[in-house]
Amino acid sequence: MKEQRQATRYNDLSSVTGRFAPSPTGPLHAGSLVAALGSYLFAKRDGGRWLLRIEDLDTPRVVPGCVDDILRTLEALGFGWDDEIVFQSRRAGAYQAALERLTAGGSVYPCGCSRAEIARASSAPHDGDDEVPYPGTCRRGLPPGKPARAWRVRVGSEPVRFRDAVMGERAYDLAAACGDFVVRRADRIFAYQLAVVVDDEWQGVNQVVRGVDLLGSTPRQIHLQRLLGFPVPEYAHLPLVTAPGGGKLSKRDSAVSLATGRQLSDEGGALLAAALAFLGQPIPADAARLPGRELLARAVAAFDPALIPRTGGAFPT
Ligand code: GLU
Repeated sequence: MKEQRQATRYNDLSSVTGRFAPSPTGPLHAGSLVAALGSYLFAKRDGGRWLLRIEDLDTPRVVPGCVDDILRTLEALGFGWDDEIVFQSRRAGAYQAALERLTAGGSVYPCGCSRAEIARASSAPHDGDDEVPYPGTCRRGLPPGKPARAWRVRVGSEPVRFRDAVMGERAYDLAAACGDFVVRRADRIFAYQLAVVVDDEWQGVNQVVRGVDLLGSTPRQIHLQRLLGFPVPEYAHLPLVTAPGGGKLSKRDSAVSLATGRQLSDEGGALLAAALAFLGQPIPADAARLPGRELLARAVAAFDPALIPRTGGAFPT
């Protein structure tokens, strides 16, 4: 009942609704701070709402205590969210319903292939880390005697196009990039792609701002939105924070593991100022001494998305 009320209320709103959707697999780090700040600035610049969603769907990867840590950190930095926090771990019913709709419409089918079989069947050259496009083995039905492992959604041959507010015009050929992709995994966990689309629609999110590492997920999410008849949000992908010497940020580098409590209320201004600098935004002269809430309000007033760089780099400390 509660879910229905909430959906109706959100869908009535025509103004901007943005969100920050951290996965509780570790404490907030420089990259997630940039995503939190960027999504907040975009949403608040137009007087919109900013929601929080905890993406704790992948239960084996959730680190105990992490949700509290993230929430206290955000609070200590001065962030405030505009509605109840949504937890993906409590939303299995909604994901199941969406999966059933897709299956009934013929868009989703069971797949019996293991990772190794997909790699063997694929003609495309690839190295260990790259996703191998699914060759379509089970598209016309499971081979006899093979049980279903995962569920996949069919992709079309038309490129998916969208305009990203930071990265510009994009076009993706999903068939070449990933092929029919997984919406429910072999371990029965609903895939991130499906959960995000279902939750963004349910929360009335019409603006998605996040790290550019998720840019390639966007055409998959748009594909699902179209199949489900959901509106497509505005997208903005932010440059990625890299390790000091370049390359991917590791757990150790990310030890901007924003310690909570007193220390943060002392250092919060400096951290926010660093995140603002990373996003190319002007920094108030007395930033480091301002309470987080005040600094955020000034940053919203001065926010200019055109200043966000397209390329990432190390977090300024
Ligand atoms: N939960 C994802 C992450 O922490 C973000 C998902 C999203 O913003 O769509 O990387």
